[in-house]
This record gives sequence, C-alpha cells and structure tokens, in this order.
Amino acid sequence: QGSLVCVGTGLNLAGQITVLSQSYIEHAEVVFTLMPDGFAERWVGRLNKDVRSLQPFYAQKGEVKNRRETYAQMVAAIVTQVYLGKKVVCALYGHPGVFACVGHMAVEQLQREGYRAQMEPGVSAEACLWADLGVDPASSGHQSFEASQFMYYQHAVSAAAYLVLWQIGLAGEHTLTKFHTTSDKLQVLVELLQQWYPLEHEIIIYEAATLPIQSPRIETLRLKDLPNARLTDISTLCIPPSEKLTLNHQALTQLGISADDFG
Ligand code: SAM
Repeated sequence: QGSLVCVGTGLNLAGQITVLSQSYIEHAEVVFTLMPDGFAERWVGRLNKDVRSLQPFYAQKGEVKNRRETYAQMVAAIVTQVYLGKKVVCALYGHPGVFACVGHMAVEQLQREGYRAQMEPGVSAEACLWADLGVDPASSGHQSFEASQFMYYQHAVSAAAYLVLWQIGLAGEHTLTKFHTTSDKLQVLVELLQQWYPLEHEIIIYEAATLPIQSPRIETLRLKDLPNARLTDISTLCIPPSEKLTLNHQALTQLGISADDFG
C-alpha cells in the first residue's frame, strides 16, 4: 500500500534537514518538492532519482490562478502517487506544517482514506528568527499570525510580547492571485497596529539565509515606515514588545505568592 511522509528541509540549504527526514527522501519511490530556490531543488534532486517539483502548479507568467486551486492540484498530484501504491515523500522547505497547508491537506485526506500518512517536523523560519535575533521568546512570550488573517479577524494582541507576522509581503492580498501586497494595504495594517504600538516603535523585517554563503536580512525600521519597506515573499515581520510585562495580582494572590518569590 502507498504511503506519505511530509518532511521539512529547513531554510538553509542542505544543513537544516533532520537525519530522519533526509533518510525518508533517500528511500522514497517518489519525492515531491517545494523549495526556496533552484539550488535547494537540485540538492534534493541528488538525494533521490524521482524528484518532482510542485512549483509548476503556481501561476506561470501571464496566468491568473487562485492559490487555492494551486494547492488543490498539488495535493491531488501527491495523493495520486500514493493511490498508485508508491512510497511518497513531500519535501517542503522550513517546517512542512507551519504556515503551509499542502502537507496538512494531503496527510489529512490520506489518513481519512485509511492510508499511512505522517508529518515530520522541520526548522521553520521562526526557529531561524529567534536564533538570528538572539531572542528567547520565553522572555516575554510571543504571538504568531499570518499577516492577512491578522488584518481580517479580531485578535487580542499583547504589546508586552513579541508579535510575528508571517507572509507580510502578501498582507491583505485577498484575491489569492497576486504575489505582493501594496503600500495602501500596509498602511491599513499600520493603523491597525497603532492600537498597541506607537508609530515610532522599532519593528524588524527578517529574512533567514537560504544559502550557507548568505547572511540573514535583519532590517530595523519604524512602524510608520512599513508601507514603504522592501518586502519579498520570504519576509517575516517581527515586532518586539513595546510594553513591560505587568503582574497579574489576582493570580498571584490565589497562588499565595508575590513577585519576590519568583524573582
Ligand atoms: N513552512 C515555512 C516555514 O516553516 O518556515 C513557511 C511557509 S509560508 C507559506 C511562507 C512565509 O514564511 C513567508 O511569507 C515568510 O513569512 C516566511 N518565510 C519563508 N522563508 C523565509 C525566510 N527565508 N526568512 C524569513 N521568513 C521566511
């Protein structure tokens, strides 16, 4: 019977994949890939003789295509090989199931149909972000959202914690057919964020290195300047806290302790 394992290849070429995930790729009968660039695709291509990129399912030059259709076609391509009895691996950059729906959709569909399907964790962009910024998110806690979803729905933000907005380069792109946001949409986001942060607050545009010879992009700017920032499809926005943590006196009283007790 066919099976599926979704693995993550990390962000930085060849070095951030787990030993287990690399072994799944090497022993698969068919490997589907979604990699950050041609270098990474070629690297996976050397690990297995049947490697098929999912990239062509994205809209090609001049074509208008909804990303929901793209994802459905990717899932269909993956599960079809499992139906044919193949041992399939889907290798996605980063963590295969973090802010990425294709792996989850394929695993869920196959499990529902009684096939063996699982996901292995990988090094996500956020894992790289904490390492490169030298921040332990435990220092204040953190919240992560997809930038558009953050704009479309009510979210309770704590300005005392880190806020990470994924896909900032697509913020408010509701048609799912374009691959970039606009300064007008980013201005709406700035106005939304003003509920919690001053316009002068320093924010960070982060891009992890995807090649060993690169350095990460860590660009600090003021919140008010976000609409004019250079954003790409790999940019992640990180907003450090603008406020200090405040004590929860009610919980402390219930615990029978004071701030001095936990330092
Ligand atoms: N599954 C991926 C992971 O685990 O990192 C995330 C995929 S999600 C569809 C794409 C978003 O991930 C980007 O818009 C960006 O927010 C983030 N991302 C991808 N590559 C990145 C990089 N090199 N540096 C920083 N963020 C990145």
